[in-house]
Amino acid sequence: MDNETTDFIRQRIEADLASNALAKGVITRFPPEPNGFLHIGHAKSICLNFGVAQQYEGETFLRFDDTNPVKESNEYVESIQRDVTWLGFQWKAITHASDYFEQIYGYAEALMRDGKAYVCSLDPEQMRATRGTLTEAGENSPYRDRSVEENLDLFQRMRAGEFPDGTHVARLKIDMASANLNMRDPVIYRIRHATHQRTGDAWCIYPMYDFTHGICDAIEHVSHSLCTLEFADHRPLYDWVLENIAIDYHPPQIEFSRLGLEYTVMSKRLLHRLVDENLVNGWDDPRMPTLAGLRRRGVPASAIREFCQRIGVTKQDNVIEMNLLDFCIRQELEATAPRGMAVLQPLKVVISNYSGSETLDGPWHAQNEALGRRELPFSNEIYIEREDFAEEPPPKWKRLSPGGMARLRYAYIIRCDEVIEDDEGNVVQLNCSYFADSKSGQDTSGLKPKGVVHWVDADAGVPIQVMDYGRLFKVPSPSAQTFLDDIDSESLTLLDAVAEPAIMQHDAERFQFERQGYFYRDQDAQGSVAVFNKTVSLREGF
Ligand code: ATP
Ligand code: MG
Repeated sequence: MDNETTDFIRQRIEADLASNALAKGVITRFPPEPNGFLHIGHAKSICLNFGVAQQYEGETFLRFDDTNPVKESNEYVESIQRDVTWLGFQWKAITHASDYFEQIYGYAEALMRDGKAYVCSLDPEQMRATRGTLTEAGENSPYRDRSVEENLDLFQRMRAGEFPDGTHVARLKIDMASANLNMRDPVIYRIRHATHQRTGDAWCIYPMYDFTHGICDAIEHVSHSLCTLEFADHRPLYDWVLENIAIDYHPPQIEFSRLGLEYTVMSKRLLHRLVDENLVNGWDDPRMPTLAGLRRRGVPASAIREFCQRIGVTKQDNVIEMNLLDFCIRQELEATAPRGMAVLQPLKVVISNYSGSETLDGPWHAQNEALGRRELPFSNEIYIEREDFAEEPPPKWKRLSPGGMARLRYAYIIRCDEVIEDDEGNVVQLNCSYFADSKSGQDTSGLKPKGVVHWVDADAGVPIQVMDYGRLFKVPSPSAQTFLDDIDSESLTLLDAVAEPAIMQHDAERFQFERQGYFYRDQDAQGSVAVFNKTVSLREGF
């Protein structure tokens, strides 16, 4: 809870509450543009906006910032709702910038009537050329002094669809010499003959983000408009708009740092390219930083909330280590995920002095008895992990080797008597003997093998497919220019594995495969063989 009460945004809210400055209490909004799937950076904003409203008994709007019909779609709208709900938050209402299009248009017309906005007919190239630079003032548009009548006439005809895209825009009349480029007569409307996913063909002019956002915040009576640092330079414009229209409420915009995460990219533009160019298997590919991808990898929503809590909210942009996210995931799963055995790269072991079969048993979690026990079928043919055998063991080797011994988890001690190889010298089978008096829990053998290995009965084991996901990028900070070159083409390993049968009968979605990591039963996998996605390894491994 510490974090929750100490960041600068919560301090601000508490001060506002203490001074009775909030007429309607705490109201926040999460305002995604429905032009892609949400990523873990958005989770930071969601946890903040919904989190403070929850904490101070306020409300949060889920507002779709749908002002750019060309890039937006209902698929994204639906995925955003699914992801916010999955993260564990509830909105007061879903709203859309487009709900307010008529009102926003009215404010633009009023600004024209007041001589504070005009229709500009420069083409985009000319507009860029006259905008100036960081060190040089821009030039006034030759259309800046159009009469109010002419402006209103042109604007209405823009709305009526008389002009093609790009021929005119509406701009605010602020200051072409402002040191802040955002204040140099910013465009507030452009012509786009495009069908909008909600308003259809009702509009062919669409308001720009900077004009729209503050108006929506004011209409919804947002008490604290929280956005990321790159909008700090837009705040004077946000304020200008609200000060110059006839609206009786003016929310404060407060900026916080964006989340950056190592070994991934977080901009929707770049994520789009990964999807569109088939470099991943869709938005929910478990290697993606999207919430859909993390969910499919098996990351519990609680781990993401914990992660967001730990990174906190500051004014310093920072890049967080992937290890912190992995740590949060492990911490969530450690006590709660049942622990079973699956052999990811099976090597057959024949136990020559054992005949018949029996049912052993073991707890689902040695430290959490509440998770119960499961049965473990055992017979003279089992699989062990290929890497738990070394034909020429390195020093201090604790697992199986020719003539060496190891304990089978919850079963017996075995000794490797014979190594069977194929024509190419690959080890294909071990012939072992077991010690009947070494059964786990009743061991009287006096033998003390150093290693314990996991295993699955060959007959009763169930074939599964394991997707072992590594990081999508080879470098900690892939750049927007070269990120495609930095993709690790070996970031997905497919394994034909075998799981103990009790895992397949258990209704949990997440398991620890002992000694291997945490795995998630893919809910969307097609086909008859169950697919398990590796969520995270047991230890920091990269
Ligand atoms: P992108 O650059 O990925 O497209 P965006 O900011 O354009 O991101 P929006 O859909 O407009 O995406 O974002 C909705 C909200 O989420 C905004 O308030 C934005 O500030 C916030 N947000 C987006 N990315 C991050 C991030 N990496 N960290 C924190 N907040 C973020
Ligand atoms: Mg955006």
